[in-house]
Amino acid sequence: MRCDNYCLRCGEPDESATHDIFECPPALQVWSLSATSTSPDIFPVPSIYANMDYLFWRKNNILGPELDRDPYPWLIWFIWKARNDKLFRGIDRDPLEIVRHAESECQACMGKAQLMGTRNHIRRESPFHLEVEVLRWAMENMLQHSTCQSFGTDCKELIAMIKEPRAWPSFATELESIETLQICFLDFKITYVPRTQNQISDSLAKIARSFHRDFYFIGCSIPVWLPRPPQL
Ligand SMILES: [Zn+2]
Repeated sequence: MRCDNYCLRCGEPDESATHDIFECPPALQVWSLSATSTSPDIFPVPSIYANMDYLFWRKNNILGPELDRDPYPWLIWFIWKARNDKLFRGIDRDPLEIVRHAESECQACMGKAQLMGTRNHIRRESPFHLEVEVLRWAMENMLQHSTCQSFGTDCKELIAMIKEPRAWPSFATELESIETLQICFLDFKITYVPRTQNQISDSLAKIARSFHRDFYFIGCSIPVWLPRPPQL
């Protein structure tokens, strides 16, 4: 009998992957807060095979696979990460945050959600220089992380500059880098989006500005360590 294999989070004597992902109380809390339907004796149960069978097959028979937007692969992954955060770094993750994070990552992979990012900048020559720099940063990131072709800005002058770069000689160098980047996009579009219609971007920008150190983030959801904007 092994005595060194108990769960460090709940004291259960036989720690296993099934236990960590489906049975340990913090994991159970995540499943019960998630959209995945749970019921006693069906899911979750103390068998990893039965649980995976339920998640992969049985549940789809009820729903139809094309309707399945259940983020269970992300839930499993984030439950596992939360376990490691607790054991190796002493960090407690809020179960509801885990569910939200898993859902938004899942949505992003289903192609519905937008990739979002924010960073703060050192001061540039003018606010317009900054707008061009921000667009360049966004385009570079989209090239690396997604197939996104459409960009939105609340700066009408930026759109004018991109349409007619020769008319803005003092921005020649900056606009040249945008032109070069555009070649990498098959269907590049930039449209005007008033600030009031893009509250996520606006609040991310405000949060980034409030940081005194360099700040850089890109992802499918607002990271849990960022203060959450009140309307979201
Ligand atoms: Zn446990």
